[in-house]
Amino acid sequence: MPLVPMRQLLDEAAAKGYGVGAFNVNNMEQIQAIMEAAKETASPVIVQASRGARKYTNDRFLYHLMMAAAELYPEISIVLHQDHGNSPETCKSAIEMGFTSVMMDGSLMPDGKTPSTFEYNVKVTSEVVKMAHDKGVSVEGELGCLGGIEDGHGTGGSGQEHLTDPDQAVEFVERTGVDALAVAIGTSHGAYKFSKKPDKSVLAMDRILEIHKRLPNCHLVMHGSSSVPKELQDLVNKYGGKIKPTFGVPIEEIQIGIKNGVRKINVDTDCRLAITGAIRQVFAESPEKFDPREYLGPAREAMKKVVSERMKAFGQAGHAGDFKPMSLEDMKKFYKKR
Ligand SMILES: [Zn+2]
Repeated sequence: MPLVPMRQLLDEAAAKGYGVGAFNVNNMEQIQAIMEAAKETASPVIVQASRGARKYTNDRFLYHLMMAAAELYPEISIVLHQDHGNSPETCKSAIEMGFTSVMMDGSLMPDGKTPSTFEYNVKVTSEVVKMAHDKGVSVEGELGCLGGIEDGHGTGGSGQEHLTDPDQAVEFVERTGVDALAVAIGTSHGAYKFSKKPDKSVLAMDRILEIHKRLPNCHLVMHGSSSVPKELQDLVNKYGGKIKPTFGVPIEEIQIGIKNGVRKINVDTDCRLAITGAIRQVFAESPEKFDPREYLGPAREAMKKVVSERMKAFGQAGHAGDFKPMSLEDMKKFYKKR
């Protein structure tokens, strides 16, 4: 099965009322963990690569690993998505490489950290939508800025500074034609999102409800949505790690989002913690081991477990075979008709 466009997957998710996890990849074990979890739970899946990941893998390795995934798991619909494209050029290179979806994050300037203006965001996002839709590729935009930094991308703030304005969201979607919109509701990238279990004062779920009411046909995206479970923090720390106490986005809040238009949920930190915990455990308990397979294998298994749990919680489990995958050619016609 070839890679499928994200628009189709999110339309399917909206029709059936579920959410789809988007998991980040940087190497073979992470791709294998996601694909095994997708197979086990029969889930369609979004695999995403940040600019940092593309640099780390040197693009060609990533591309061929994804092709291997498509070849080995023909029953699973896979979207290959560019996470946080910082410029139209980044999105263009992703499309040329075979990504079926790109994020143009025009909420920040191309340096990936300075908040931009609304007009700048509309301009660069519209440019990417035109270029991508001409090729049948889906586009995610972002309005408002998340906190934290991930792979060198982010404002570094607390996430409370630039929440998405619902009125602006309507204008943004109308003017740009994006397929999906990432909204800022107080979350941050990375492990340190909240210093206590988040309540309404820091996690603005009501914005999602408000935006969904005004844009019922736009797929919403939650970034920075790892749950940062205490047991993963504890595992890392038990074996010598130094994760400071922190709280992520509770699964039940994400599920409220999914009932209100959220179709894509980005999860990276939880996978990172699972991998690190598993490797630390092998190093601590079996210091005589030095074959990388003996710690990368358990790391892969630990990530698979997290991904599989999220797939079930988001509702995508069981939906892999629901639809006939569309090609980018099909999507070109879909966009031309609009
Ligand atoms: Zn993000």
